[in-house]
Amino acid sequence: MSSMNRRMFLSGAGAALTAASLPAAAESTPAQAPAISAGLPDVAVVGGGAFGAWTALWLREQGARVTLLDSYGPGNSRSTSGDETRQIRAGYGSREAYSKWAVEAMRRWTVREREFGRRLMYTVGRLQLAPRWTSEHDAQVRIFGGLNRPIERMTPDAIRQRWPQLDPVGMEIGLYEPDAAMLRAREALIAVGEAFERKGGTLRIIRAMPTPPVSGRMTALALDGGSTLSAGQFVFACGSWLRKMFPTIVAPKLDTPRREVFLFGPPPGDTRFSWPNLPVFSEASYYGFPDFDRRGLKVCPVGGAVEMDPDSDERVVTPHYVRRAYEYVAQRFPAMRGQPVIETRVCQLENTVDEHFLIDQHPNMSNVLLAGGGSGHGFKHGPVLGEYLGRRVLGQAVDETYSGMFDLAHVRTPL
Ligand SMILES: Cc1cc2nc3c(=O)[nH]c(=O)nc-3n(C[C@H](O)[C@H](O)[C@H](O)COP(=O)(O)OP(=O)(O)OC[C@H]3O[C@@H](n4cnc5c(N)ncnc54)[C@H](O)[C@@H]3O)c2cc1C
Repeated sequence: MSSMNRRMFLSGAGAALTAASLPAAAESTPAQAPAISAGLPDVAVVGGGAFGAWTALWLREQGARVTLLDSYGPGNSRSTSGDETRQIRAGYGSREAYSKWAVEAMRRWTVREREFGRRLMYTVGRLQLAPRWTSEHDAQVRIFGGLNRPIERMTPDAIRQRWPQLDPVGMEIGLYEPDAAMLRAREALIAVGEAFERKGGTLRIIRAMPTPPVSGRMTALALDGGSTLSAGQFVFACGSWLRKMFPTIVAPKLDTPRREVFLFGPPPGDTRFSWPNLPVFSEASYYGFPDFDRRGLKVCPVGGAVEMDPDSDERVVTPHYVRRAYEYVAQRFPAMRGQPVIETRVCQLENTVDEHFLIDQHPNMSNVLLAGGGSGHGFKHGPVLGEYLGRRVLGQAVDETYSGMFDLAHVRTPL
């Protein structure tokens, strides 16, 4: 039906949507397979992570014939989306556009939980710690006021009083967002994949690669084993793999640094560090989650620029980050000092220089949409991203603010 020329969908009927006014499509998602609509293109979505799986589901719900291809399957452990938990929070400092999307995403997660018949979102609150108050905190408080969301500025004493198990030493500011939540990440993607298939989508576990343009369009994917798959529109939502896939167009725009995640076992019988007794916490160099599903207090030291190959690299933690994690836990949660690491994870980010997502039409192929650059915060937006990306595929109006933020003009993050 449509080329994905950006001018076209931005001019759509003068009805560009604001984030907050994205239609409430998720209120009444079709429970079963919608009929294939003859007016819509066949779509192939490569990548079943947060970006691709939600897009495939939304497009199928509109009546498009959709094939979702993933080398390892939605929620796999190599993908950035394939961890047990991700947080959803609306606090984005001055980046109001993401706050609005996050609020809308929370609403849609609730609707999808009902549809999928699984609990995926666990409200727990998020405590941002900082050594001093900045204009970004001001902006966040102002934006939350506009969105009618609760937010609380806390002193170190108030923090100690509410969560005596957390020592805010070195921090002067706590900004607490009570509505923030944890999402069951891997389980959510498995649920999205199942809903997609139930509604008539085709899910294939196979690697798919782009083929060269023919008259400015892609005609087919090259699949492992030598076969091809034709479609009218293609979406490449391949997370950190986008670098390898599009080495000249995407690789200069994305870094894929590894991150190490540690889960610390609490003392026997001690539930002070477990959901819902501790909020998600974050500060400049660390963030973490309460013990959830009895897997341990989750801590991730931030920083480091070692590039990771998502297919072939081993996921084994390194002494430097082990030490950092132990030091942090001992300082921030004194009663956890000396408690053991009981699980670890290693995953990769896919960061743009400004941490805006990277979503744009391929410069040489009018029917190819590139989607990724989650930059450490993309998961939560899945239900909203799916519709945004789907609309771009179908040439429907979307909010220009977002398209301007996401385009390929990103420059590579200096390592
Ligand atoms: C440590 C860490 C913590 C994070 N915390 C949060 C958080 O709390 N909240 C939040 O919102 N976000 C968070 N994020 C970011 C979030 O997880 C990502 O933005 C998001 O999961 C990226 O999704 P994606 O679909 O772009 O990529 P992925 O999840 O990596 O999915 C890409 C998929 O493409 C498939 N694929 C790749 N190449 C091919 C091919 N050739 N053929 C077929 N399939 C292919 C892969 O198998 C994979 O399944 C975090 C990220 C990290 C690393």
